[in-house]
Amino acid sequence: MELNAMIDEAATDFEAVHGARPSGTWAAPGRVNLIGEHTDYNDGFVLPIALPHTTRVTARGRADRRLRLYSAQGDGRVTDLALDGLAPGVVAGWAAYPAGVFWALAEAGHPVGGADLFIDSDVPTGAGLSSSAALECATAAALNDLHGLGLTGPQLALVAQRAENAFVGVPCGVMDQMASACCTAGTALFLDTRTLEQRHVPFDLEAAGLRLLVIDTRVKHDLGDGAYAALRAGCERAAELLGLPALRDLAVADLDPALGRLPGELRSLVRHVVTENERVTETVERLEHGATAALGPILTAGHASLRDDFRVSCAETDLAVEAAVAAGALGARMTGGGFGGSVVALVAEADAEPVAEAVRSAFGSAGHRPPVVFTAVPSTGARRVA
Ligand code: ADP
Ligand code: MG
Repeated sequence: MELNAMIDEAATDFEAVHGARPSGTWAAPGRVNLIGEHTDYNDGFVLPIALPHTTRVTARGRADRRLRLYSAQGDGRVTDLALDGLAPGVVAGWAAYPAGVFWALAEAGHPVGGADLFIDSDVPTGAGLSSSAALECATAAALNDLHGLGLTGPQLALVAQRAENAFVGVPCGVMDQMASACCTAGTALFLDTRTLEQRHVPFDLEAAGLRLLVIDTRVKHDLGDGAYAALRAGCERAAELLGLPALRDLAVADLDPALGRLPGELRSLVRHVVTENERVTETVERLEHGATAALGPILTAGHASLRDDFRVSCAETDLAVEAAVAAGALGARMTGGGFGGSVVALVAEADAEPVAEAVRSAFGSAGHRPPVVFTAVPSTGARRVA
């Protein structure tokens, strides 16, 4: 459905649920990360693009300091909460994401009031495409405008991250929210997660005769959450042992001697993070020289590093990468935290369908559910759409 049609429908749906006309609709996108995985909690570099897929929050302020939250992807009920009773641990399930944004804004001293929200989204959830950040950022953008807070994109992203970290209880880095809040159409977001310095790097796939395929494997292995915390702790421990503020401060040239000073189980983690930061800067350099096709081998090397060193890939993402590359993709890698989720593949336009077909066929032969394959077009970050 076109965005305009979705917005009209959202206003009608809002009225059906909340019994009044909304003040407006705000949209924030999901994202895919081109390269730079598990670097954001190591103060490193990332390079995401926003997807055309968005979460829309249609909203209206309320005078009584209540929150009435409804999602078309939720539990079919309105969640009714007292704004002043919000605290970490109080709200369970999906409603914690938008409620957490109200809480984080109030905590930061911003004058937020009650509101009615109607949420709808075409960002696949749990596919590594950041539906959580899309929901948080669309909510934050709505409140920013409804209450005239005047917050910038990066400020909204930090509020959204705080909501997810402290209110929902997911210890994610800042990439997803920065991508959803700050990306611009036709570009990738080169972000230094330490300084939040950002550069919008032109990423014109069409001019290069290329496409970026997203292959959603539709699997999410359960070990994900505990494993993420353990990997993060391992990285932090390694930095501490090396006497560095973060692994970001270890240069590739100093990698080998540093590895020699670490216990065996931390070495491969460090090697991934340090080489991955290098792959991000190399990717940006190639993009800035218009060498878009030359990104392929970097993506595939990134996957090998996530598979062999960081060990966050799984049979399905490995198979998608292998099948895509065997069918002529210039490069491919898992994207997102891992243990399932999605793969990105850079392909020549003419190879897009054969590559997609080869992946589907490989999944069929392996007895996996068919993946969902779509083309990623670098799109716009959070914004008011009505
Ligand atoms: P990802 O961000 O990769 O999609 P997460 O596990 O971080 O995966 O976030 C998914 C969760 O976010 C869902 O389980 C749900 O609780 C919440 N969520 C995301 N989008 C929506 C939506 N449109 N409506 C309700 N909840 C949503
Ligand atoms: Mg998420």
